[in-house]
Amino acid sequence: VKADGRSGFRIFQHEMELATRARHAVESDLRGALANGEFELHYQPIVDPATGNAVSCEALLRWKHPVAGYIPPSEFIPVAEDTGLILQLGEWVLHEACQEARHWPQDVSVAVNLSPRQFSEPQLAFQVVRALERSGLPPQRLELEITESVTLGATQKVVETISNLRRLGVRLSLDDFGTGYSSLSYLRKYAFDKLKIDRSFVTDLSKTAESIAIIRAIIGMGRSIGMVIVVEGVETEAQLATLREEGCDLVQGYYFSRPVPSQGIRAMLAAPGTL
Ligand code: C2E
Ligand code: CA
Ligand code: CA
Ligand code: CA
Repeated sequence: VKADGRSGFRIFQHEMELATRARHAVESDLRGALANGEFELHYQPIVDPATGNAVSCEALLRWKHPVAGYIPPSEFIPVAEDTGLILQLGEWVLHEACQEARHWPQDVSVAVNLSPRQFSEPQLAFQVVRALERSGLPPQRLELEITESVTLGATQKVVETISNLRRLGVRLSLDDFGTGYSSLSYLRKYAFDKLKIDRSFVTDLSKTAESIAIIRAIIGMGRSIGMVIVVEGVETEAQLATLREEGCDLVQGYYFSRPVPSQGIRAMLAAPGTL
């Protein structure tokens, strides 16, 4: 092992250089994609289980690569975050989502995902204002989804950004709840409107009694501090039945619809009660 130490290091260094170069390559691809209009938003309905109507739709980013086809966000958002390109990309998402929602019934909101990096930029609130003004979408119809990791930092900047956004009248949702370390004190401090329980809790729902107990506890807790509870990742009739029983407010998942392009969501929203 010792004899190989140096060459081992060289190989490691070489791999690091490759990784760095690959990252730069992806970064310039992403810039090109933004300039060429290769990004698209797909939309997934968030449904009131009592009526079968969508109350909002979540915008989910896709890169329609001319050769590789649709590339999921997990493949490029981390790079966009690392390089800071997420700020431009995020602004595009905000504009596109607000414009799209103007074509929907007036009681349907649009939910936009924000990445942690966007929260450390003071310009976020301005970007949101611009997107609302240009599209003419009322602020109450825009929901911003923030993952738990954002609230973890809990810096003064984050607190300020969140309260600025609240003052604009947009809604805030805490995404992926249960996967991080948020505590009741965070929830109270930031006054989120919605709590989205992470998909992982639903996957286990049919398997163990404990998983039902956990969901029940989260629903009770969220409710008691006035939050609307959304459960994501609902795939089966059985899961839906359990969630109905537990009194969850809203549901989202493949059971109702996969994320679909603009024309698909417009058709879905034009025929209420079908979900
Ligand atoms: P997320 O915000 O938790 O979004 C939910 C993800 O679960 C989406 O994956 C959605 O397609 C998927 N999903 C929905 N229903 C089901 C289901 O019933 N079963 C299963 N297995 N999956 C379901 P997607 O579209 O690949 O997005 C992944 C993540 O990428 C999102 O997780 C979000 O964190 C991030 N993302 C997506 N769009 C944007 C964006 O515009 N900006 C930022 N910053 N992040 C985004
Ligand atoms: Ca989300
Ligand atoms: Ca989520
Ligand atoms: Ca997630």
